[in-house]
Amino acid sequence: MAVIQVERKPLSFAERTYIPQVLGGLKTTFKHLISKKQTLEYPEQRPEIPPGYRGVPTLVKDPNGREKCVSCQLCEFVCPPKAIRITPGEIPAGSGREHVEKAPKAFDIDMLRCIYCGYCQEVCPEEAIFLQNQFSMSGYTREEMVNHKDKLYELGGTLPDQHFKWDKKKAAEIAAAEHPSH
Ligand code: SF4
Ligand code: SF4
Repeated sequence: MAVIQVERKPLSFAERTYIPQVLGGLKTTFKHLISKKQTLEYPEQRPEIPPGYRGVPTLVKDPNGREKCVSCQLCEFVCPPKAIRITPGEIPAGSGREHVEKAPKAFDIDMLRCIYCGYCQEVCPEEAIFLQNQFSMSGYTREEMVNHKDKLYELGGTLPDQHFKWDKKKAAEIAAAEHPSH
C-alpha cells in the first residue's frame, strides 16, 4: 500500500512567537468591548418579541368577550404529542347560542408535552387558539406546567375578529362595503 507523506510548512519566526495570534484574539475582545451589548439582564430585561412569534398556545375571546372555542376537539386530535385535553361542555342558558354551539367545560394544555408546532392554531376552524408572545413558562411541579382553561384565556386575551360570526349587522356592513351594488 502506497504511503503519501504530506510536507508541512515550517512555522515562521512570527508564528513561533505566537504574537500575531495573541494580537488577533485581543482585537476580537476589544471589538466586542465597544460594540452593541448582545446580552440582557433576564428576567428584569425582556427581549423584543418579533411580530408573528409563536410562543405558548393560548385561548382567545372575541371582541364581545365570548369564548370562540366550540370544543370541536380538532386541535386535541391533531396535536402530535397529545398535549391537549378537552372536556366539551354546554354554553350557559340565556346566552342566545346554547342551541347551536358548545364550549369547553375543561381545556388543558400540558406545556411539558407541547412542542410549539402550531398545528392547533392551523387546524382550529374558529380561530380560537393562538400561539402568542408568551415564551417563558416555569414551575416546580408537573401540575404547575399544565395550563388550564382560565389560565389559557388569561394568557390569550382578546384578539380582533374578522368574521363577526355573532354580529350579523357588522358582517352585513362589511359585505356591503366589499361588494357595493351597482
Ligand atoms: S403547539 Fe403543537 S404541540 Fe403544542 S398544543 Fe398546539 S398542536 Fe399541541
Ligand atoms: S380551540 Fe379550536 S380546534 Fe380546538 S376545540 Fe376549540 S374550536 Fe376546536
